[in-house]
Amino acid sequence: MIPFVARHLICPLHERLIGRASFRALRELQRSQWDAPADLRNLQRAKLAALIEHAERHVPFYSRRLRDAGVDAALVDHFDALQRLPLLDKAQITAAENDIVWHDAPGGLHAHNTGGSTGEPLRFYVDRRRQAYDQAARARTHRWFGADVGDREAYLWGSPLEVRGTDRVKQLRDRLFNHRLFDAFNMAPEKMDAYLDALARFKPACLFGYPSSLALLAEHARSKGKVWSTAGLRAVFVTGEVCYPHDRQVIENYFGVPVADGYGSREGGFIAHQCPLGEMHIMAENVIVEIINAGRCVPAGETGEIVITHLDAYAMPFIRYRTGDRGRLKPGRCACGRGLPLMDVVQGRATDLLHLPDGTVKHALSVIYPLRAMPGIKRFRVTQHEDFAVTVDVVRDDRAERITPDAVADRLRPVFGADVGLRVDLVDRIAPAGSGKYRYVVSHAAGGARHIAEEGMKIDA
Ligand SMILES: [Zn+2]
Repeated sequence: MIPFVARHLICPLHERLIGRASFRALRELQRSQWDAPADLRNLQRAKLAALIEHAERHVPFYSRRLRDAGVDAALVDHFDALQRLPLLDKAQITAAENDIVWHDAPGGLHAHNTGGSTGEPLRFYVDRRRQAYDQAARARTHRWFGADVGDREAYLWGSPLEVRGTDRVKQLRDRLFNHRLFDAFNMAPEKMDAYLDALARFKPACLFGYPSSLALLAEHARSKGKVWSTAGLRAVFVTGEVCYPHDRQVIENYFGVPVADGYGSREGGFIAHQCPLGEMHIMAENVIVEIINAGRCVPAGETGEIVITHLDAYAMPFIRYRTGDRGRLKPGRCACGRGLPLMDVVQGRATDLLHLPDGTVKHALSVIYPLRAMPGIKRFRVTQHEDFAVTVDVVRDDRAERITPDAVADRLRPVFGADVGLRVDLVDRIAPAGSGKYRYVVSHAAGGARHIAEEGMKIDA
C-alpha cells in the first residue's frame, strides 16, 4: 500500500467507520504539545474536573470513594480532590467488578486483558474516546521522528492475540495499514535470517518492539555480516521493558537511526515517550503522573512509584492507578520547545531472555503469556538456572484447585522443548525482588547474566 493512500484514505475511513476520533485528537495534540506548562496544567485541571464529575455520577465505585474521602466533586479544586483519593490497584479493580464500569459509554465497551508487571492478570475495558487519544498520542510521537500514520511499520512483537493473525480480517487490516508483524517469541537463528530478508523487502519507515528482541536481531545480523541498507527507516520505537544502554547502542549502531523509548502499559495507556533530544515527555493532555513514596506525593526529582490518572478513560476510569513501576518527575523544560513535562522511568518492566541449550533465545513473554492465559493462576515466577533447567513457582487463586503442577508443565513444555528440565512448585506466596518489583522471569542461563547485572546497577539510579 502506498503510504499516501494509507494515510489519507484508508486510515481516516477506518476511523470513521468504527466511530473513533483519533485524527481530531491528533490535531489537538499536535497543537497543545507546544503550549506553556501552565496552560497544559490548566487543560489537565479542566479534564480532571470533567472526569471526576463523570466518575461520581456514573461509576458507583468512584461515587463511594469520593464520598468516603469527603470530596464534593462540584465544589473542590480537583487536583486537591485527587490527592485525597486512595490509590487504586489491580486487586481493587478486579474486586469491584461491574461497579467500576460505565456501561453506557458511547461506542460500547472493549475488553482487554493484561498481566502487567506483577504477573497478576487484569481484565479491563476501554471506550472509543480513550482509544482515540491513546492512538493519537502514539501517532504524535511517531511524527517527532518524521514517521507518519500509514507509513510502513514492522513490529517485532509477541502477543499471541496479535500473532494469531491467521484470521483474514487482521491480515487485511495489517496490509491496509502498512503493518507487518514478526514473532518476537521465535528468535531461532534461521528465523532471524528470514526476518531480516523480509524486512529488507518490506522497507519499513519504523521498527517497533521490545528492546531486548531488537538488540538480539541486530546482534545476530552483525555477526552474520549482514548490512542494513534500507533507506527510509526513521526510528526504532521500543517499549514493554527497560531499554538497557547496551541494547540501545547495539540497535542504533546496526540500524543507523535513533532509538525512541516509550513508557506505558495496556491498562495505563500511553504515558510518556522520548523526543528526538532524548528527554521523556509525559503525554500530559491524556494522563496525570504522580510519584508516590511512603504514601505521599513527592516533588520533582524524588523517586517513587509511578501512579497515573488517565484523563480520557471514561468507560473504566483509572484514577490514581498504581503502575508498580518506579520513576521521578524531572524539573525544567526540554530544549525541543515542547511544554510537555518530563520524567524518568527508573525501572520499568524488566524481563530477561530465556535460553535453550541449542542457542535459541526466547523472550520472557513467551512463558508469561501462556501462564497468564491459564485461569486459576494468581501469581507466578519463572526461574531459569545456569544448567538451563527451569523452576516455576505458582500461586493459585482460591477458586482453582484444578491447576496442577503437571498442567502447568504441559502448558510450558512447547516453549522449552523436551531437553530442558521443568519443575513446577505450588507455593503460598512469591516475595518481591529487592527492588520491590515482582520480577516474573529471571534467567541465570547463558547470556542472562548481563541483563541481571545491568538491572542491578539501575535499581537505585
Ligand atoms: Zn523534548
